[in-house]
Amino acid sequence: MLELVHIQKKYDYQSILDDISMVLPDVGLIGIVGPSGCGKSTLLNIIGGIDRDFLGDLLYNGQSVKRRLTKYCKRNVSFIFQQLHLIIWLSIKNNIELPQYFGKTMFQDKEIDVSGFNKLKISSLSLGQQQRIAFLRACCYCKKVLLCDEPTGSLDQQNAKIIMQLLKKESKEKLVVIVSHDLKKVQEYCDEIYEMRDGKIVNHTQIHASLPPMTFSDSLQKKKRLSYLRLSLSSLFSNKRRTFQMLLGFSLSLFCVLITLTMSQNLEKQIEQYIYSLVPPSSISVQSIHQSFSNDFINKLKTNQNISRVQLFLDDYEQLGIGFVGERYQESQTLFIGDDTSPYHHLALMVGRMPSHNHEILVSISTAKHLCQGSDYKELLGKKIYAWYKHKKEVCSIAYHIVGITQNTTTIDTIYQKENAYIELLKEENRLKEIKSHIGIIFVEQKQRRTDVLNELKYKYPQYKFIETGVSTQKHISSTMTQIKVVLYIFSSLAILSSLFLIGEVMFLNVVQKKKDYAIMKCLGASFFDFLKLILCESLEIVGLSFLIVFIMYFQSIFLLNQFLKEMIINGTMTLSMDLSLIGNVLLLSFGMVLLCQIIPLIYIMKLNTAEVLKG
Ligand code: ADP
Ligand code: MG
Repeated sequence: MLELVHIQKKYDYQSILDDISMVLPDVGLIGIVGPSGCGKSTLLNIIGGIDRDFLGDLLYNGQSVKRRLTKYCKRNVSFIFQQLHLIIWLSIKNNIELPQYFGKTMFQDKEIDVSGFNKLKISSLSLGQQQRIAFLRACCYCKKVLLCDEPTGSLDQQNAKIIMQLLKKESKEKLVVIVSHDLKKVQEYCDEIYEMRDGKIVNHTQIHASLPPMTFSDSLQKKKRLSYLRLSLSSLFSNKRRTFQMLLGFSLSLFCVLITLTMSQNLEKQIEQYIYSLVPPSSISVQSIHQSFSNDFINKLKTNQNISRVQLFLDDYEQLGIGFVGERYQESQTLFIGDDTSPYHHLALMVGRMPSHNHEILVSISTAKHLCQGSDYKELLGKKIYAWYKHKKEVCSIAYHIVGITQNTTTIDTIYQKENAYIELLKEENRLKEIKSHIGIIFVEQKQRRTDVLNELKYKYPQYKFIETGVSTQKHISSTMTQIKVVLYIFSSLAILSSLFLIGEVMFLNVVQKKKDYAIMKCLGASFFDFLKLILCESLEIVGLSFLIVFIMYFQSIFLLNQFLKEMIINGTMTLSMDLSLIGNVLLLSFGMVLLCQIIPLIYIMKLNTAEVLKG
């Protein structure tokens, strides 16, 4: 038994329903009739629990349900609306089965036949056909209360008669309430009629005595939980063009974020590598303040087990570069090289062999490519090359043979020679009267800790100054690096921010546009958690599909960029590498973002008055 106790409803201080009380039986066909605008639909919405903003109370089987309208609605009530409110982006089958998504049980198969048109789209159906779908959607899941707002309002006489007969049949086993402005149309079917005028009940007629409820003819108890993934997929593709645009926009912004982050990460790595190549990490520089290093000191260093190599820088000696022209120094024909003659024994050879004489050198592969300028670098083997240097304002050269090419690429072009080979060669040719050197680099054996060796040297040779190489350079560079990083992060943040904005707006619109559909689903029993599940699935699909596009674009562009870098950048050391953890993080983040951007409008929609949304 359903009881309405002193129901009042106002819109902006204007009274729409004025103290309405009625007692409705468990079975029977009840008509509420009255002129347009007298408040019939408002009353029906209150009975059905979709309008929650009213005064008075609603009792079901003697208990107030005003505080638990969602539950009451889900368990007992089904609607047939005048405007039908079918969801156009769902198939006919899914429209009929929709209440099952929200936990309603199908317990009766109705004898209405939809087989003639069940493959068509909702929008292409005739009104009578749509009416049948709406009827099935309501009746197959309705056990107790069926509410119909002008069910025949938009139908021709024949279809109206069919629907009224069906409803009459339904009313043998449940309560059916019909709202109509046309007394004549419903009069012959109704058991009771309430007449309304200006928000008040003005007349109540009992036509037939209420009967005890009939037992259910066929109870199917079909309860199937349809997968939300399917429903959300239909929802996602309800507007194919918009979805496509959204996916494309989302993918593009994700792609920008990924590329920006990859670039900044790689640049950082590149700079680190560059510093590393400038400053060997396991070396100690040594300086003599007054006179040149003594032979004795150099020999002692060479026999020290913790030291792999000692390199001296001659006073008044400056490397100019290497070139194939030996007659005269020509700057344009000379490839500038660094002073780097660091140890090479740990390097792998590409071709050739290690140097066994002072006249023999190795070059790095990047240097070899620069030297041969497009022709096969293997031809360099055995070639004579001149290393130009400036000594006491005089420019001279030393002739070498290239005997090998190492596999490593170097930021600055580099040759490798035997320890202090150039000093020996100069001495051989009598160009050097005596070795004068105030600065040198000591390379520490790889197994040793640099600070231990440094302390040992400081203790043994107090007359010289020892410093860990590159500490001050690194400090200086790292402060510059921080500045570069800040700029990079500002750019990446801008990319992320703009994409966030775009995604947020699109997701927001996506939910807001479905306001009415969500209101229909609410009437069919969907709770907040049902919508949450729906949105979760939709977010999964959006992110999944976008990432598919992003992956393809990302891998392709990294590949192309690397091709480009290989050809364009002079010393082919720069390659972009992909970071899977970065992709993973961006994936997770964007999923969270998409979800959040949908939950916020969802909460907003849930707070709206369902009855109002359906009207709009
Ligand atoms: P009926 O179904 O009997 O035609 P309704 O219940 O739809 O009438 O409406 C009853 C009255 O409430 C009408 O006069 C209508 O103008 C008014 N009304 C309905 N919704 C609103 C609203 N959102 N704001 C103000 N007035 C409203
Ligand atoms: Mg109405």
